[in-house]
Amino acid sequence: MKAVVLQAGNELAISEVPEPGIQRPDDVVVRITKTTICGSDIHIKHGMLPGISPGTVVGHEFVGVVAEAGSGVKKFRPGDRIAVAPTTWCGHCAYCDRGEVAYCPHGGVWGGGELFGKGLGGAQTSYIRVPYADNCAIPIPDSVPDEVAIFVGDIFVTGYTAAYEARIRTGDRVAIFGCGPIGLSALLGSWQFGPRQVICVDMLHNRLAQAKDYGATVINARDGDVLETDKGGHQGGGGGCGD
Ligand SMILES: [Zn+2]
Ligand SMILES: [Zn+2]
Repeated sequence: MKAVVLQAGNELAISEVPEPGIQRPDDVVVRITKTTICGSDIHIKHGMLPGISPGTVVGHEFVGVVAEAGSGVKKFRPGDRIAVAPTTWCGHCAYCDRGEVAYCPHGGVWGGGELFGKGLGGAQTSYIRVPYADNCAIPIPDSVPDEVAIFVGDIFVTGYTAAYEARIRTGDRVAIFGCGPIGLSALLGSWQFGPRQVICVDMLHNRLAQAKDYGATVINARDGDVLETDKGGHQGGGGGCGD
C-alpha cells in the first residue's frame, strides 16, 4: 500500500509500505477512509520533533472501517465505522487507572516515531493496526459523515481541552488568539461553559468569518492594538485559550 513516509532530510514522499495485520488479540486493522495533515505533522516536516527517523509513516488523525478484528476485541467487528484517538493506551496500568492515559507507558502516538510512537504506524495511508482497540476507538453513528467524525480524535478535543483548562465559568468573557482549526474548536468548546462573550483574534478574514458564524466577536489583529479594539474592555472574568 502507499503511504506518506518521512525521508532523509525531513522530506516527505509517497512510498510503498507493507500492509499491517493483526498481531495481538486486542488489535483491529482499519481501512482508513479519511485522514488529515495536523500541525504536528508540519513540525515533523520541519525537523522540530526528535526521535522520528526516516521510514516513519506520518499522520495520527483518521477515521475508517474495521477490516479485521482480533479475537479479544469486544466492541467492534469488521464493517464498523470508527473514530480513533491520536494515542493508544493499555487501560490497566497505574496511569490508565488514574485516567492519565496520555502517560501510559504501553501506548504511543500514531506516526510518532520511536520516541512518541513506540513503533505505531502512521495514518496517512490505506490501512492501520489499532492496538487496544476497545479503549481508543469509538463507533461513528450512521448519521455522522467521516468529514465530521474526523474532528473527534484530535482537532476538536484539543480545542475543547483548551477551553476546559481555561476554567471558563458562566458569564465570563473569553479571548481566543488564533482561529485555525484548533482555535475554532476552542470557540465551540468555550460555548459549552456558558461565557457571555467569546472574542476571537486572527489576521485572516476567512478564519474570522468562520469564527463569527460560530457566534464569536471577532477582532482582526491587523486593524491595530487588539486590547484597544476590544472597546468593551476587561471587566473581569476573562479567560484565554490559544491556537
Ligand atoms: Zn493532530
Ligand atoms: Zn496504560
